[in-house]
Amino acid sequence: MSKVDINKSWNYAAAPESTAHIQLKKKYDLFIGGDFVKPLSKKYFDTVNPANGEQIAKVAEANKQDVDRAVKAARKAFKSWSKLSVKERGKYIFRIARMMQERAREFAVIESLDGGKPIRESRDIDIPLAANHFFYYAGWSDKLEYAFPNKIPKPLGVAGQIIPWNFPLLMAAWKIAPALATGNTVVLKPAETTSLTALKLAELIQDSGLPKGVVNIITGAGETGAAIVSHPDVDKIAFTGSTEVGKLIQKSLAGIEKKTTLELGGKGANIIFEDAAIEQAVEGIVNAIFFNQGHVCCAGSRLFVQASVADVVIEKLKERISTLIIGDPLDKNTDIGAINSTEQLATIEKYIAIGKKEGADIYQPKCQLPKKGNWCPPTLFLNVSQSHTIVQEEIFGPVLTIQTFRTIDEVIEKANNTPFGLSAGVWTEKGSKIFKLSQKLKAGVIWANTFNKFDPASPFGGYKESGMGREGGLHGLKPYLKFKS
Ligand code: NAP
Ligand code: MG
Repeated sequence: MSKVDINKSWNYAAAPESTAHIQLKKKYDLFIGGDFVKPLSKKYFDTVNPANGEQIAKVAEANKQDVDRAVKAARKAFKSWSKLSVKERGKYIFRIARMMQERAREFAVIESLDGGKPIRESRDIDIPLAANHFFYYAGWSDKLEYAFPNKIPKPLGVAGQIIPWNFPLLMAAWKIAPALATGNTVVLKPAETTSLTALKLAELIQDSGLPKGVVNIITGAGETGAAIVSHPDVDKIAFTGSTEVGKLIQKSLAGIEKKTTLELGGKGANIIFEDAAIEQAVEGIVNAIFFNQGHVCCAGSRLFVQASVADVVIEKLKERISTLIIGDPLDKNTDIGAINSTEQLATIEKYIAIGKKEGADIYQPKCQLPKKGNWCPPTLFLNVSQSHTIVQEEIFGPVLTIQTFRTIDEVIEKANNTPFGLSAGVWTEKGSKIFKLSQKLKAGVIWANTFNKFDPASPFGGYKESGMGREGGLHGLKPYLKFKS
């Protein structure tokens, strides 16, 4: 038997990665009740490659009637899926995980093609981690009664799941795997700009033999998402996206008995103390903000450097970012890929203009950007203060603000002073500082001497306006269950 290394699914080909082996249809319908069906809306939209603006495929746009059809299919499937033996359920989820590993290369190439992220990241992080989520939750499926002793865990019913474009397949896995493990059925909507890996997942699910209607994948824009949220026969909403839309959803569900989890925006603080291993910290800063073009809810987008080492850290950081390779997402050497959409590029450019206007000093290394497509160079803002808009608002791009601090209490106060509370990073040799900061920082995830590390067993979620509820680990099961005793 050939050995599958989950963390390295194939050896790198010569750059750029070939698209010859990927199979894409010209037109994608909705995946409802186990089949691809034409949308009642009769409408399709284009999905484009953000690295060159070219159309890749047409994707169906689900209207209210289509959403209703998907919810009905999920409701029908719930009857038998929720009664299936927990062991059988686990086997189905395990099979999805295995098939995802086998198709990892195709998934990775499509993810980079459709969304713009570097192939190295799709290959080494997004796809293996997505498969790992299915493996992890497959294992919980027959252990729920041990996980929640003295309670009888029951599935909720139909889960409506809405995901963003920054980690398309991974977010689908975060949502679908725990829902299935707990006996729920699913209607999932990917983001408009990155539907393709979710649709490939639909094909995989079809091939896996999962009972029809257990997972339904419907594509469309914000209105499709809103129709899922307001559908009366949906028992649970799991949403990942912007704080703005999260608040809208929360308001629209006020007083309605529908369990809701919201994973929203962030403005993570990355804190470097003078006793940190400086070279490692600089690599950590780069990974924290430039990973996935900064399209990361938990990005370390605010850097705090202790004043005594600020000059050396900033100098090394400037040097390091001048070596980052920006360009073709399918090239194995690329560090920074394409910005996901022209809209997102406009948002980032708006914030860069605001930063300059409010008097911060900008630093961008000299680099040649491709002529076609959406690109933004790695950007540093120096001489910023707490009141700057670029320090307070989520930019969701490769833009880092840099502040200095003198004392630990000062940096705690500054780090906590935003409406968000999703992530933070601490770089120091001293365990006592790590301990104090992990107690005092108002964030759902705190990394020590690393950043942007994820594990299916580790719960993820935010404080304050970064969201409600947790995904991952044992905590990620609870929002899909009701309990009897
Ligand atoms: P978004 O505009 O809120 O969209 C997220 C999803 O919701 C998309 O599928 C979107 O569809 C859909 N949607 C839009 N309007 C809706 C409405 N009124 N009702 C229901 N659904 C609606 O967010 P985004 O700009 O795509 O994603 C970036 C945001 O996600 C950032 O703020 C980031 O921090 C956050 N995020 C958070 C986490 C986390 O775990 N906390 C993880 C990743 C991303 P369309 O895209 O088709 O419009
Ligand atoms: Mg959007």
